[in-house]
Amino acid sequence: MDKKVTKIGVLTSGGDSPGMNAAIRAVVRTGIYFDLEVYGIMRGYAGMIDNDIIKMESRSVANIIQRGGTILKTGRCKEFFDAAGRKKAYENLKKHGINGLVIIGGDGSFRGAQVFSNEFDIPCIGVPGTIDKDIAGTDFTIGFDTAVNTAVEAIDKIRDTMDAHDRIFVIEVMGRDSGYIALHSGIATGAENILIPEKETDIEGILSALMEKERRQKLVNLIVVAEGKFGGANEVANAIKERLPQQEVRVCILGHIQRGGSPSCFDRLVASRMGFAAVECLLESRYNVFVGIVNNRMHYIPLNEAVKKKQRVSEDWMKIVKILSS
Ligand code: ADP
Repeated sequence: MDKKVTKIGVLTSGGDSPGMNAAIRAVVRTGIYFDLEVYGIMRGYAGMIDNDIIKMESRSVANIIQRGGTILKTGRCKEFFDAAGRKKAYENLKKHGINGLVIIGGDGSFRGAQVFSNEFDIPCIGVPGTIDKDIAGTDFTIGFDTAVNTAVEAIDKIRDTMDAHDRIFVIEVMGRDSGYIALHSGIATGAENILIPEKETDIEGILSALMEKERRQKLVNLIVVAEGKFGGANEVANAIKERLPQQEVRVCILGHIQRGGSPSCFDRLVASRMGFAAVECLLESRYNVFVGIVNNRMHYIPLNEAVKKKQRVSEDWMKIVKILSS
């Protein structure tokens, strides 16, 4: 793999996140600035297999930095799990002369990139685009800030009505395997309890505390639950209703609104920096890494490490939750 990279492909893969467009724009414009040909690959790895590949110009990415979603579309691609599918993908890239790839996506997409780069002589650079912030080795991922702000805005509104009626509200946010959206949005909205997959939930403790609060006539309680934790918000609400039948308990599942919308300024900046750094990696032969930001500096982590490790939730966060909600 000592040949110079001259033509690069960029794709968005897996779950979408706000700011992916800003990252595509950065990759395309940086590539063109450094005299590379840049190709957009549609619908993630599926576009590589179906040869759905288009030449990008600087103007192809005009007026998209502020748009949610991804102009290249995204998706999950079963065929890419098979060696035959990946070989087809490789042959299509070769047809276009593409000899470097930038993959904007989550840890699953990086796993695909890792497998592909082991098999073929096309270097891959990952750019972490995921609302879950579940990739170890970077302080930020593209889309997390926007998703959390969307959740906070929605929870603030629910709090108004919850407070007016003295209700208990259980709000479910996204993050099946990662509690960061729940943790950050819960702290930022003053939630009494935050349930995340990384931590054991003491449901008995929560129920006893609610009963004690009922005795003190503190009837308003906000519980933020990460999707899938303890069976989700409905299960948590049912457990409360069983123990406190006289209380009004309501559920709200925020769902896909957390994936959409115009990216925050922060996500646009992170996406711009990471997209730029990804092309730099290809130019400097720093292959098969993903770009992260640690302590406000660019960081380059081998793809296989992204695949092995998960972002952990520090005990400091849990302490803050406990103390500030008491
Ligand atoms: P995300 O990138 O958001 O975590 P997924 O986990 O769904 O999303 O992964 C996106 C795509 O990456 C999958 O649909 C598949 O095409 C590819 N992929 C994931 N894991 C592998 C793997 N082990 N081998 C080959 N391709 C993979």
